[in-house]
Amino acid sequence: MNWQKFKLDVIEYSKTIGIDKIGFTTSTTFDEMKIRLLHQQRLQYHSGFEEPDIDKRVDPSLLMDEPRSIISIALAYPSKMKVRVVSKKGERRGIFCRASWGTDYHVILRDRLKKLEKYILSRIPNATLKSMVDTGELVDRAVAQRAGIGWSGKNCSIITPEFGSYVYLGEMITNIPFEPDTPMEDLCGTCNKCVDICPTGALVQGGQLNAQKCIAFLTQTKGFLPDEFRGKLGNRIYGCDTCQTVCPKNKGMDYHLHVEMEPDPEIAKPLLKPLLRMSNREFKEKFGHISGSWRGKKPIQRNAIIALAHYKDDTAIDELKFVLIDDPRPVIRGTAAWALGKIGGNSAKDALLKAQRSEKDESVQLEIEKGLGFFK
Ligand code: SF4
Ligand code: SF4
Repeated sequence: MNWQKFKLDVIEYSKTIGIDKIGFTTSTTFDEMKIRLLHQQRLQYHSGFEEPDIDKRVDPSLLMDEPRSIISIALAYPSKMKVRVVSKKGERRGIFCRASWGTDYHVILRDRLKKLEKYILSRIPNATLKSMVDTGELVDRAVAQRAGIGWSGKNCSIITPEFGSYVYLGEMITNIPFEPDTPMEDLCGTCNKCVDICPTGALVQGGQLNAQKCIAFLTQTKGFLPDEFRGKLGNRIYGCDTCQTVCPKNKGMDYHLHVEMEPDPEIAKPLLKPLLRMSNREFKEKFGHISGSWRGKKPIQRNAIIALAHYKDDTAIDELKFVLIDDPRPVIRGTAAWALGKIGGNSAKDALLKAQRSEKDESVQLEIEKGLGFFK
């Protein structure tokens, strides 16, 4: 087999199935990434959502027998909505980050990788292939960087010259000796915009992310949001795009190449109040197909309550009062108590005093106290 020619065939085929960029790298260990991950773990910067075994994250030979190469793929996603939401005056909306617009990207990328696998197997029937997207062991960004898809920006995203950082990444380990591509030069230069603008200071020097401080991670947690971050969320109910939108390399980047990625504005920018009392079934029907729903409705509802407090939306007081008394989940009752205090007004204060007399849960009592504290 002429592997060089086969590589060109794979590249050509990838274009026909909606893969926007493809790169190739060796299957050797990602030594630099290992050092980085160990450092991150030592400093407790990791999110806890990752594969816990660092060796598996950096050594393809622990994931497949005799690997010879890794194919990295990138699909560009839109950064702007074609259709704008029409809101009535005073109706407040939350926002899902761009990576959660349209159909869950795991589904889309798996589809492309499956097609690519099928093609490779049609040409090399005894090829061994192992594909992964995001939740796989390997670090997508490390693979993409080494395969020449883009450089790793100080905002910890892979930045491609063609699509900016608005790309989803996936990869496939193979036992085919594809010739590796050359990694791209880091083009961040002296720019430091993303680090400077990050609302929580989560980007630490040298392109490191402290996930514990990153809003994108915090919006996915299920417990109470620590006080110091509540004022930083704004109307973000899932994820955060700030360090991408500020990046000059993303200027003018807005690609609409995949119909499945087009956002429905009513889903990507939903009204906040109706989220508060949404049933599981309603949530699943409306949001079940987007990646931002993977942690269930609780974090989204908690964040929606915080967003209503951010807007000081007094039209939400009745909903919040209901939630404070009626919701079975302490995190939701407690966050509602805090939000009522933030929004203020006699009705909110009365509701907090009433709840203070009946609430049995200690964590919620604490939030009621915090809420009442805003009136002092
Ligand atoms: Fe900071 Fe938001 Fe970027 Fe996280 S996603 S590093 S919080 S700007
Ligand atoms: Fe690099 Fe500047 Fe973009 Fe940050 S904002 S990733 S420093 S180019």
